[in-house]
Amino acid sequence: MALIIQKFGGTSVANPERINDVAERIARYHKSGHQIIAVVSAMSGETNKLIGLADEMMQNPDPRELDMVISTGEQITAGLTALSLIDKGIQAKSYTGHQLGITTDSSFGKARIMDIDTKILKKDLKQGFVVVVAGFQGLDKVGNITTLGRGGSDTTAVAIAAAIKADECQIYTDVDGIYTTDPRVVPEARKLNSITFEEMLEMASLGSKVLQTRSVECAGKFKVPIRVLSSFDIKGDGTVITFEEDKKMENPIISGIAFNRDEAEVSVRGVPDTPGVAYQILGPIADANIDVDMIIQNVGESGATDFTFTVHKRDLKETMDILNEKVKAKINAREIMGDSKVAKLSLVGVGMRTHAGIASKMFKVLSDEKININTISTSEIKISVILEEANLDNAVKALHKAFELEKG
Ligand code: ADP
Ligand code: ASP
Ligand code: MG
Repeated sequence: MALIIQKFGGTSVANPERINDVAERIARYHKSGHQIIAVVSAMSGETNKLIGLADEMMQNPDPRELDMVISTGEQITAGLTALSLIDKGIQAKSYTGHQLGITTDSSFGKARIMDIDTKILKKDLKQGFVVVVAGFQGLDKVGNITTLGRGGSDTTAVAIAAAIKADECQIYTDVDGIYTTDPRVVPEARKLNSITFEEMLEMASLGSKVLQTRSVECAGKFKVPIRVLSSFDIKGDGTVITFEEDKKMENPIISGIAFNRDEAEVSVRGVPDTPGVAYQILGPIADANIDVDMIIQNVGESGATDFTFTVHKRDLKETMDILNEKVKAKINAREIMGDSKVAKLSLVGVGMRTHAGIASKMFKVLSDEKININTISTSEIKISVILEEANLDNAVKALHKAFELEKG
């Protein structure tokens, strides 16, 4: 008998038939003697619909009230899943995040889980219930409902797995595992049987939204065994996220290609190259609670430098306003440029550490495709480039082929 967390994403619970299928799967596991906690997302499209409704009430909806609205999608699926289980003769109970004691901080829309009270879960499991939990939500210390950021049901599932020391956290989605890149863009992409935690963290944070980045961080911190599987297939072992990097005799140089269409590029041009400039540019951006991703400062000519960074596309306008109104004159910059028609593409692989020449091969492939690179940044196990969004799909396909990722 194992204690298993099973998380079902939006497409897996998209309508009553799918919810029934999900309940059948849970029932099968339960009947074979396992204890199951199911974590469910809202039906696909539901969270966007709820955000749309809130937008109709006011521009830039109040964050507390927005969370109040968008947390409801998961409550509906949790109840429906429990009903379907009960109909199949399985004892089941559903809970919202707040009923269960999932305590978060108060950052509405991107709250972090601080603590999970496992009392109710343990009691129900002991009595033979399947527990169904509404993902994506919690309660802050003063009683406000919070949500965990888009894709946050993954994090609910992993955090519960960590808190209750589950044997496995199964993430059921609409693909049958983690692929070398998004199979929707490259049909030849290959399913991986396993991926290291470190690589998964890079892939997720660089844009592979198959898992919310914070769920991977949480899995790493508490060593939660995760398996990503399809809710549409009965068979298949999915992809396991491993913590034992040395197990493989040799790691492939490149494990995958991640990309992100959500970023915009901002360039502050012709800035006097003096100490404190980076702080003067980024300080006001941070004060406005805008997250900055890639940061690149060029060595300029004749005492001037260019400073480039990326922000989420939705934050581009506010970032440009701040720079134009509060920063440009102060630091004597020549011009501020913003570009939202860009995308970030990254090659990821732990094997990169020991192999030179990956970057030059990547740049040759892009050059052969006549794709211009705006910005480059590297770390030990990844190389990221910013390029024109219109070129992204071609770039991913060409690199996937050139690095022979389909071959494995
Ligand atoms: P869910 O609704 O189940 O949470 P998501 O849409 O969040 O599902 O994540 C699954 C999607 O992630 C897939 O349909 C796929 O298009 C996308 N994806 C992006 N990168 C990858 C990858 N490397 N491997 C598998 N899927 C990926
Ligand atoms: N329903 C939320 C979203 O669409 C959370 C999730 O699906 O994980 O982002
Ligand atoms: Mg998801």
